[in-house]
Amino acid sequence: MQNLVVLGATGTIGRNTLDVARRHSDKLNVLALTANSDDAGLFELCREFLPDIAVMADATGAQRLEARIKAAGLKIAVSTGVDALVAVAKHTDADQVMSAIVGAAGLLPTLAAVQAGKRVLVANKEPLVMAGRLLMDAAEQHGATLIPIDSEHNAIFQCLPAAYRCGVAPKGVKRLVLTASGGPFRETPLADLPKVTPQQAVRHPNWVMGQKISVDSATMMNKGLELIEAATLYRLPASQLDVVIHPESAIHSLVEYVDGSMLAQLGQPDMRVPIAHALAFPDRWESGVDGLDLAALGRMRFEPADTQRFPCLRLAREALIAGGNAANVLNAANEIAVEAFLKGQLAYTGIAEMIEKCLNAERQAVATDLGSILAVDAWARAWSLDWLKDGQRMTHA
Ligand code: NAD
Ligand code: MG
Repeated sequence: MQNLVVLGATGTIGRNTLDVARRHSDKLNVLALTANSDDAGLFELCREFLPDIAVMADATGAQRLEARIKAAGLKIAVSTGVDALVAVAKHTDADQVMSAIVGAAGLLPTLAAVQAGKRVLVANKEPLVMAGRLLMDAAEQHGATLIPIDSEHNAIFQCLPAAYRCGVAPKGVKRLVLTASGGPFRETPLADLPKVTPQQAVRHPNWVMGQKISVDSATMMNKGLELIEAATLYRLPASQLDVVIHPESAIHSLVEYVDGSMLAQLGQPDMRVPIAHALAFPDRWESGVDGLDLAALGRMRFEPADTQRFPCLRLAREALIAGGNAANVLNAANEIAVEAFLKGQLAYTGIAEMIEKCLNAERQAVATDLGSILAVDAWARAWSLDWLKDGQRMTHA
């Protein structure tokens, strides 16, 4: 029996993880579940999975959850705040930690799990972008095993030799090719992009995901973050990382070897596949998802990614090449931009505009330790909020 901690249990990845765990209750025991503020959602999950501990980042949410748990007569300890998230992430009894909080908020708990030498299933890509070196060095130092959940990185992991572990450059690899669906605006006339709405942006053609990553997929910042994530996990330079648009989302990514072989992982666009792979690794467990019906799929298309249409992809590649604080600043500015876009305070095309301006404004010493990484993140957020305040940013539409 292995003990599982799910950080971000009420989210899309969290719920998919628990769906797989439900199918394997003979092998997995849910030790702790966490959420931000959705006490009703976390309570339902607590009632089914009966964890020892439930953590809510939000203090009033935690009070409501505690009342519900008491009323139901359940024996689950409720705690709150970042320290409580960190405590469950490094819990002595935890064997596997699913890191599925969204955004930079996942950095401290993910780092804690890594420093405790856990097996960490990494869905939460933003910490790898903002503090990649710190996390990978900590993993090496503390003997943590990182298994990628992001479908592209999980596909790549599956296409590498069975003995491969993240953190070193894989042998004999010429390049990694990340596939991208192109999102909802792949064919929208460029002139219409300034006016697209949050509702249109979150309607992804192939995947069901949280709001933030759905907007990132529409701008292709998601693929940009994934380039940096791939560089971090697989220790390869930007020159060995490519992106190709593949609207069917059947191939989840490819590894090209020096001998000209290209290996791909295919499957339905359902996150339970990479989640089940990672939970079971090196074994294989049923995920609840069937393979692809290839004849029904018929054909697969591939096209280059257009950086005029998707400037965020260009910005992310430039940030990866620039190194230093650029990826951290890119991530922080993007989180603020996406939030503003979702609230109707920033036009869709303003997202890339603001991130580029923020990257150009950054002049701080290169951050390597946690404190200075968080300071750069805070600087970029403050700069972005100032830029948003400073005038009618919707007029950029
Ligand atoms: P989501 O918005 O559906 O869920 C986010 C989870 O994080 C929720 O449980 C929420 O309560 C929690 N949370 C949010 N803010 C928090 C905070 N400040 N403190 C503590 N907890 C907080 O997001 P998602 O789609 O499940 O994505 C989660 C992560 O996985 C993201 O980093 C995303 O990029 C990555 N990812 C998601 C998918 C997908 O298919 N959804 C695929 C690949 C990678
Ligand atoms: Mg992905």
